[in-house]
Amino acid sequence: MRYVSTRGQAPSLGFSDAVATGLAPDGGLFVPESLPQFTAADIRAWSKLDYPALCFEFLRHFATDIPEGTLQSIISRSYSKFTHPDIAPLVRLNDDLLVLELFHGPTLAFKDFALQLLGNLYEQQCRDRGQSINVLGATSGDTGSAAIHGLLGKPGTAIFILYPEGRTSPLQERQMACTGASNVHAIAIQGTFDDAQAIVKELLGDQAFRLRHRLSAVNSINLARILAQCVYYLHAWLRLPARVQAEAEFVVPTGNFGNVLAGWMLQKMGVPLRGFRVATNQNDILYRLFTTGDYRVTDVSPSLAPSMDIQVSSNFERFLYYQAGRDPARVREIMHAFKTSGHHRFENFDRDTFTASRCTDAEIAQIIRDVYRRFNYIVDPHTACGFKDIATDRPSVVLSTASPAKFPETIRSAIGIEATHPSLEALKSRPLVKTLLPADTAQVRVFVDRHAV
Ligand SMILES: *Cc1c(COP(=O)(O)O)cnc(C)c1O
Repeated sequence: MRYVSTRGQAPSLGFSDAVATGLAPDGGLFVPESLPQFTAADIRAWSKLDYPALCFEFLRHFATDIPEGTLQSIISRSYSKFTHPDIAPLVRLNDDLLVLELFHGPTLAFKDFALQLLGNLYEQQCRDRGQSINVLGATSGDTGSAAIHGLLGKPGTAIFILYPEGRTSPLQERQMACTGASNVHAIAIQGTFDDAQAIVKELLGDQAFRLRHRLSAVNSINLARILAQCVYYLHAWLRLPARVQAEAEFVVPTGNFGNVLAGWMLQKMGVPLRGFRVATNQNDILYRLFTTGDYRVTDVSPSLAPSMDIQVSSNFERFLYYQAGRDPARVREIMHAFKTSGHHRFENFDRDTFTASRCTDAEIAQIIRDVYRRFNYIVDPHTACGFKDIATDRPSVVLSTASPAKFPETIRSAIGIEATHPSLEALKSRPLVKTLLPADTAQVRVFVDRHAV
């Protein structure tokens, strides 16, 4: 399988090179040259497989340049640190309402599904190529800790995560800075998230520096992340009762559109998922898009579901590529117009497959209370957005993207309960090791020079 850029002006690459490259050199995102088409018989044959076995059956269609035995071992390591035997358990609240829990990985959020795999893919590449790799990223929370836990202690790798000092939650900081691993560098920047991100962009944009350290970016656009995320939809769908299988709407709390996109791509490969709800918080660019066709940038306002606080959705370009009939010239034209004007009007896309909802902070708190009262079940603030406007004419499977224990303040103020998790409790007694640096690219550069592997 080869991978092509959505903008059509970069050479096609094999799986491993596309994963190592991240963003295509023409500014586009990598997509498979063609999507495999799975038959009803293929899908039936998967119904008894456990999570790692299913993941292998799926990924072997994409990671065609990795020997099968190696791929199997990468996958089995990637899901070995999940604490639930089902990896992605389905919890039934009632006949028509199920929750797909995606928070049993090392950092208690769904990003572990992709970043555990990506970490092991990077490690394998270091080994195959006899080279080290240094990963650099800026984070306001979840992505940084999930990326760190993907590379924790892996030989030949180092990871540098910049975050705004005093502006991530104390638990999130502990997940990044209390790992005890010598290849992890948690860098608290005296500035905002935008300052941290600007420094990372500048360093990654410095070609000589980038090549010297074989720097790779942490971001949500890596192709391997999307493919890894297809698997939990498949795993869940195979375990649904037949009626729910046929009718259910998958409800997806969304920021960068990565999670929804994975489900939708699986549908395009022949798995008959009925439809998706794009569930946003008050930062609702995707809600407005799917309800009005107008894709328009507005300011970001910080919410109770911070990992969905985005201005533009980076993964949306992959969706656009398919909507534009896989015509890269059309994608270039739209992305260019969007960049210049900050908006674009879409006509006639797949309304049959998507619905959308938006959820304000006040509604998040109310929903956490309601769900707890009705089902004795605690949802985190991101998952709560999925419970807004639950369909009444068909069953719903709500993807739960984080453990409530990651957001104890919000849970406490909504229902007066202390949400805890043993892995977070354990962090509280471990030493916090971070480097405090001013928002100054030169000083971060010196730090990376000194600690890169
Ligand atoms: C990242 C994240 C999201 C949003 O996922 P996208 O792929 O960006 O749509 C939702 N919830 C949580 C807890 C997250 O960490």
